[in-house]
Amino acid sequence: LDVLHRFQRKDIHVIRSGHHLKKSRITRGELQAALEHCEFHLSFQPKIRFSDYSLVGFEALLRWQHPEYGEIFPGDFVPSLIYHDLIDEVTLDMVEQASRLVAQWREQGLKTKVAINLSSKSFNDVDFFKKLQQRMAIYNATAKQITFEVTETEVIQDISKALAVLNNMKLAGFQLSLDDYGIGESSLNRLTQIPFSELKLDQSLVKGVSNHPYLQAAVESTIGMCRKIGVRVVAEGVESFRDWSYLAELGCDICQGYLVSQPLAESEVVSWYQSHLADISKKLP
Ligand code: C2E
Ligand code: MG
Ligand code: MG
Ligand code: MG
Repeated sequence: LDVLHRFQRKDIHVIRSGHHLKKSRITRGELQAALEHCEFHLSFQPKIRFSDYSLVGFEALLRWQHPEYGEIFPGDFVPSLIYHDLIDEVTLDMVEQASRLVAQWREQGLKTKVAINLSSKSFNDVDFFKKLQQRMAIYNATAKQITFEVTETEVIQDISKALAVLNNMKLAGFQLSLDDYGIGESSLNRLTQIPFSELKLDQSLVKGVSNHPYLQAAVESTIGMCRKIGVRVVAEGVESFRDWSYLAELGCDICQGYLVSQPLAESEVVSWYQSHLADISKKLP
């Protein structure tokens, strides 16, 4: 019941259209039309290593190119996709798109991997993982090329269901990432229970970490703990050189944030990579 309430409340959204703000409830019909007209697409944000700036991969972030309102961000429609039970369909389409692009980029000289965000609602479908693999197979994508991110708060909602699916994925060779770490009720116990290879520090812990002792305490202990259990740490929302330097010094593994790059359109990815390689030493301290 609690879960339903949450979805219902979240289903009221504000759609940005130029300077206007329009309050709107997104209907199932609108979302289905958007699916039919292929209005959903991905943008790609690079993740690089603190140690040598090398590319780790890209996170795929969902966008809705609305014919009337323009580009809409996931916070404004993903809850509606979940509420109307359309998230599985969209996720499967995105996995197929990502698989196609990984193969295409490879031909263009960029060997990389893409991380897809999963909603824990998809774990309700016992065949979901099989369907994922079928979509990947269309473009011969492997478990090394596609990784998955799941938010901590969602996993905790139904830990046994989530564990069943995540363990299967792990067994099939997929790398799993615990997203938005730090805004839920984080615990070491949970981390060792779930087969994650990566933990993503939420932006709220990262932004301004270089001059907030409270954030520093949280980030430092998380990095220390992850090192002990062999989980790599991604800092999300790195916007400043100061935060970069602080996190690099602490031994944080991977950086994702506007300092490195904003999310890129699919057509920009290869050229971003080429210029990143070219000025790797100039770009960051
Ligand atoms: P997330 O997975 O934690 O993704 C990171 C979000 O932080 C992205 O916002 C990204 O653009 C933003 N970001 C990255 N670096 C910076 C920075 O330096 N500064 C600031 N201010 N923001 C930064 P976005 O694209 O709006 O996505 C928001 C959330 O929507 C994602 O959070 C994820 O939970 C969800 N989402 C995105 N795509 C999908 C999807 O395909 N499926 C599902 N289920 N959820 C998705
Ligand atoms: Mg994510
Ligand atoms: Mg995140
Ligand atoms: Mg986040």
